[in-house]
Amino acid sequence: MREYPKYCVHMKKLENNMEQIISRCTEKGIDVAGIVKGCNAIPEVNEAYVEAGIKMIGSSRMNHIRTIKAQGIKTPTILVRIPTLGEVEEVIELIDISLNSEVEVMKALNKEAGKQGKKHKVIIMVDLGDLREGFWDKDELVKTALVVENELENLELLGVGTNLGCYGAVTATTEKLNELVEDAEKIEKAIGRELKYISGGATTSLPRILEDNMPERINMLRIGEGILNGRDLIDLWKYDMDYMYTDTFTLKAEIMEVKVKPTHPVGEIMFDAFGYKPKYEDRGNRKRALIGIGKFDYGSTDMIFPIDPKIQVVGASSDHTILDIEDTEIDYKVGDIIEFKICYASMLYLTNSPDVKIEIFE
Ligand SMILES: *Cc1c(COP(=O)(O)O)cnc(C)c1O
Repeated sequence: MREYPKYCVHMKKLENNMEQIISRCTEKGIDVAGIVKGCNAIPEVNEAYVEAGIKMIGSSRMNHIRTIKAQGIKTPTILVRIPTLGEVEEVIELIDISLNSEVEVMKALNKEAGKQGKKHKVIIMVDLGDLREGFWDKDELVKTALVVENELENLELLGVGTNLGCYGAVTATTEKLNELVEDAEKIEKAIGRELKYISGGATTSLPRILEDNMPERINMLRIGEGILNGRDLIDLWKYDMDYMYTDTFTLKAEIMEVKVKPTHPVGEIMFDAFGYKPKYEDRGNRKRALIGIGKFDYGSTDMIFPIDPKIQVVGASSDHTILDIEDTEIDYKVGDIIEFKICYASMLYLTNSPDVKIEIFE
């Protein structure tokens, strides 16, 4: 039976990461929503989040929430992508808390909630400059909050939130998050009560906890990558987090060809499989291995990292990856297994590839 390519989930490491981040948040009075979109809501990961004591569990995709519900998880669910009008019925059916930025959609949610005899909680999103979802105009923000509070009887205005660093690559500075608190306080003044949550973002807001400069009133974060893979803050942001594992998930693939070949293609060079006209460096003849996985499964070759540091990922097409194994001491053979660390992007792709088997390890 075919075993590879395999996506390995290392539970003990994952549990460590959950506990490390959640405890640091809890210490600062912050409730964590565990976000599982990055790993395609692997049931064991969902369960581990619940065991670790998250207050909400969520994703950007409805099918992930369906998985969570089907597992019998009772933790409140949160949808972290603002819903389309077409999703309203499912949102009310499956989701306890949704993020929103359009009064039109919230009116539809209210109507559907009435129909299903449910109360639905909403967090209104503010755009602080990252330019993805959320209210830009502050008057419109407050006006909409008033409509939700006073006119949409089946919705509960749970709080306000923001998202930073996803499109605009804008940093979640203390100043930016203070602006969110100010916006929340404008709304509180208008509706005459305190909001339960001020939701200060995702993994990109964790530095405020690590540096102990998170505004006092931020009391919720929605964390995926920073727990699941734990690499971005270390690799990109250069935080020293020796208490985190960055190999909670690994990829294993099988070698199907080992040969010495030229490093520069031989012939007239036009376009590769993806329509690019690449440049090739001529390094003479070198020993290489082909493994049975490709860009279809993991995105691009700069998103997988061989654990054997002497292996170089040279290139790939949809279903083949070429590795340079000239410099490694290990005498790799056909049938051998190569293991890789991955990143957030390759985690997204790999867990969605029907040909990659997910296996759970201790
Ligand atoms: C994806 C997402 C998150 C979680 O992001 P991570 O980077 O995985 O922590 C939180 N909030 C929103 C709105 C998101 O889209």
